[in-house]
Amino acid sequence: MTSVDLRQQKSISARDIEAAGIGGAAEIIVDSRAFLEDAARGMLARYAIAVRFAGTEDGRKPPEPSAPATESPRITESFYSRAALDIKDEICSVGRKLWLRGFVDGNGGNISCRIGEDEIICTPTLFSKFDLTPDDLCLVDLAGNQLAGSARPTSEVRLHLEVYKNAPRAKAVVHCHSPYATAYAICGHVPPSSISSEFDVFIGRVALARYETPGTLEFAETVQPYVAHHNAILLANHGVMCWADTPTHAEWYVENLEAFCQTFLIARQFGVPYSRIPSEKAEALRSIRKTQGLPDCDGDDSSAPVLS
Ligand SMILES: [Zn+2]
Repeated sequence: MTSVDLRQQKSISARDIEAAGIGGAAEIIVDSRAFLEDAARGMLARYAIAVRFAGTEDGRKPPEPSAPATESPRITESFYSRAALDIKDEICSVGRKLWLRGFVDGNGGNISCRIGEDEIICTPTLFSKFDLTPDDLCLVDLAGNQLAGSARPTSEVRLHLEVYKNAPRAKAVVHCHSPYATAYAICGHVPPSSISSEFDVFIGRVALARYETPGTLEFAETVQPYVAHHNAILLANHGVMCWADTPTHAEWYVENLEAFCQTFLIARQFGVPYSRIPSEKAEALRSIRKTQGLPDCDGDDSSAPVLS
């Protein structure tokens, strides 16, 4: 029997099946977690091709996790599309980076990405970010209703939704508890600008949102006044939140914020004065920031005390 090995693919399209059929294949071998598109199923029948799922005892697909009863064909299409699968992989990769950097403890932290007007992929509750797989992720709408996915969404998803509602440019959000930035959040201070060029370009001024109980609507609303003007916000007595155009970039901003908070703490311990970037040069950094499409850090801000 002629077999075609498609185990490297996460999604099997009609085109894949057609190519196998034209090549005379009687069987394709796919990963047990691969998604078979509807059109691909039809093409299997046309070419009389059997499917063998690798890694299972009898070669048959293991039962699918149960999806919410409300999952509609349109939702299924977007949540399991090739583009969505790539985003799910990216979110899992970001989760592992956060864990490896020590930015998420236990099941802490959460990640999301907006894939449509009213569709947001987010991480589930009670999962270590190191262990995430694409199948663990959920789909919610802007009201917080779960549209797809078998696990329950993070209890802090409302925080992410407030970001998407108030900062239309935000396409991805990362929330975590990185130690140095969280230490600032505990002390009720924000790190200063005009000290580090990297920090001024990618973060600018940081806002500080007041404390509320995590997971509540009141907690989510604490970031409302700041998200349009700041891509990095400290959450008092809790952690940090950064938004960006992709999950990867949102994680980068968390790294930028955390690295500067750590570096500035070290610099202050030397016992000698540190230097500031001259104001005209700081303006040049601001211009670079604007060309990157990052928020201007003007307008409403938290007026949080700056640790200097
Ligand atoms: Zn948290």
